[in-house]
Amino acid sequence: MTNFQTQFPSIDLPKKLARLAELAYNLWWTWQPEAGRLFAQLDRAMWERLNHNPIRMLHEVERARLNEIIKDKDYMNSYKRVFADFDSYMSQQDTWTQQTQPKIDSNSIAYFSMEFGLHETLPIYSGGLGVLAGDHLKEASDLGLPLTGVGFMYAQGYFSQRISEDGWQEALNNPLIFENLPALLVLKDGKPVTVSVELPDRKISLQVWEVRVGRIALYLLDSNVDSNSDYDRVLTARLYWSDLDRRIMQEVMLGIGGVRMLRVLNVNPAVWHMNEGHAAFLTLERARELVEKGDTFETAIEKTRGQNVFTTHTPVPAGNDEFPLWLMDKYLAAVWPQLGLNREQFYDLARHEQSYGETFSMGVLALRSSNGRNGVSELHGHVARDMWKFLWSDKKVDDVPITHITNGVHTANWMARRLRMLLDVHLGESWMERLDETELWDKLDSLSDEALWEVRQHLKRKMNFYLRERVRDRWTIGGFHPVQVVSAGVMLNPYVLTIGFARRFATYKRASLILSDVERLLDVINRPNMPVQIVFAGKAHPADEPGKQLIQKIYRTVKRAETGGRLVFVEDYDMNLARYLVQGVDVWLNTPRRPLEASGTSGMKAGLNGALNFSILDGWWRESFNGKNGWSIGEDKHTEVTDAQDQADAKDLYNKLENEIIPMYYERDINNIPVEWVGRMKESIKTVTPQFSTRRMVKEYVEKLYSKAIE
Ligand SMILES: *Cc1c(COP(=O)(O)O)cnc(C)c1O
Repeated sequence: MTNFQTQFPSIDLPKKLARLAELAYNLWWTWQPEAGRLFAQLDRAMWERLNHNPIRMLHEVERARLNEIIKDKDYMNSYKRVFADFDSYMSQQDTWTQQTQPKIDSNSIAYFSMEFGLHETLPIYSGGLGVLAGDHLKEASDLGLPLTGVGFMYAQGYFSQRISEDGWQEALNNPLIFENLPALLVLKDGKPVTVSVELPDRKISLQVWEVRVGRIALYLLDSNVDSNSDYDRVLTARLYWSDLDRRIMQEVMLGIGGVRMLRVLNVNPAVWHMNEGHAAFLTLERARELVEKGDTFETAIEKTRGQNVFTTHTPVPAGNDEFPLWLMDKYLAAVWPQLGLNREQFYDLARHEQSYGETFSMGVLALRSSNGRNGVSELHGHVARDMWKFLWSDKKVDDVPITHITNGVHTANWMARRLRMLLDVHLGESWMERLDETELWDKLDSLSDEALWEVRQHLKRKMNFYLRERVRDRWTIGGFHPVQVVSAGVMLNPYVLTIGFARRFATYKRASLILSDVERLLDVINRPNMPVQIVFAGKAHPADEPGKQLIQKIYRTVKRAETGGRLVFVEDYDMNLARYLVQGVDVWLNTPRRPLEASGTSGMKAGLNGALNFSILDGWWRESFNGKNGWSIGEDKHTEVTDAQDQADAKDLYNKLENEIIPMYYERDINNIPVEWVGRMKESIKTVTPQFSTRRMVKEYVEKLYSKAIE
């Protein structure tokens, strides 16, 4: 591999600070608070203005400031500590993998995903699927797993959201400036490495960017190269094109191009993990490699299936990518002869009967050509077995070979620094290394109520100030009506019970459930001595009209004067805003239509920070809720999709808010501490942190799926 290089741009820094450039190009810093502060301390205002982008920071900070900070002993001591940690992390020899997984240690795992949510400066994710993939990489790095990520470098990123005065979502697509991103073009002998995929009438070339995530490399494909036509150059510019043509081409590039890229880079994985069906064409490319060497297609699939792992995230058939056969003809006709198949044999691999005709289902292809298959929560496992049973017609539902591994979140990435410091004192400095051991968390019972409450109050104030500064910036840009200033949160009060509701605006998430009886809600939030605030945030896919209408409905309610400025909609939900919200609110609300959530992860981020979940018993929360660590909405049973069910859920929601949640929050002892509430916070941190961590999750992937694939 020695002839591959990445072009490391030179950043002119004083010698004593030279390694900051290296740190800026490894996302390890994003989950090490002290490392992040090395950048922030150079200029706090600039750090915020540049959206926490260390590369821009190092380019723009004044030389005089750098010369000055070299003389700051505290800063330089911190610098030494961070790089000592970084060096020992990068060269660690006794990782979990090395200690417990000798077989895996010498075999690598490829992880394919359409999106990766790693940090707000790299907007190549749209929501939960991407953030999960990003957290998976960070954890794989921490555990010392030899994993390689494969995805796309979207030249325009995911859109930024603006809300018009009338509540209509506007999408801004800004070209990313690659020099400012922690991504390096992969070169061979000084020239960009490229791979190509064939379409019936042409070839598309792809170049490759490398992002370093601790010890892990993530390779991102990019079609913006000179030899492609203008149309082809923007094929990888955006996530999830809504037209099927560009979508299928992206999936060809990810699945087929991704395998070819790894081969060119000399990465030869023993496990091929598909995060959702978008990458399923990889199974065909791997089979094609063997057919080319003389195997029949059947033998080739037999030989490769054992190494393929497929994670499904979608609990409804319509959520899976499926392509009409005429479209497959258009783009994959060249592939089936290469596999030694005719048209009918090829479509038999993934034929799916729909009411509107036959399709080629990426989900069916992935399930049939993988031996490792899983859903993302216990309930979703059941749903997936039921949904795909038709592929195993001789089996009972419970015997359908799809297991489940419940999602998790990367603790160090999502837990507030202040809370982490408090736990360092209470649990001992090395608690992060043992965070998935449930016994460790029993110690939380003896944590001081005052200390925990104080940290939470701090985080809540921080969120309030942050939201206000965001509004100030937005107001300064112009085109923002004063009522929008109020709607964006300037009247929030950090001492008021605050509920967060932030997620993608897909209709199944029922964002407007809490608004289903607006008069009752206004009454609930405006009670004297017991006010309540609700912060909404989230994007709808630009082509999702019902999703955008939902945002508008909420926005119109938010703007009403009777809300007293206590209902708020914050524009442009991203990982940065998510961090402030999950760390700063008191209650995290989630009202999906069961079982459509599959898992959900934002509630885990909230729960480990001591925010209390108040949610439908769907996905992960159904597994976590124990009666003491938050609240449920509705019952643990299957329900039909009806208006009556929505009303019943809304009623339960209002009743619990009025009768349990609000009174408990405002019930204070002599020191103004809500003792019962703090008890629930501890129960939440204690139960959510170990069980719903990527530490537990990635170990489970290794033990249940990766290690089997290697055998
Ligand atoms: C965690 C996260 C999500 C996933 O949230 P769910 O609603 O629980 O699926 C989506 N977007 C962002 C920015 C996140 O950080």
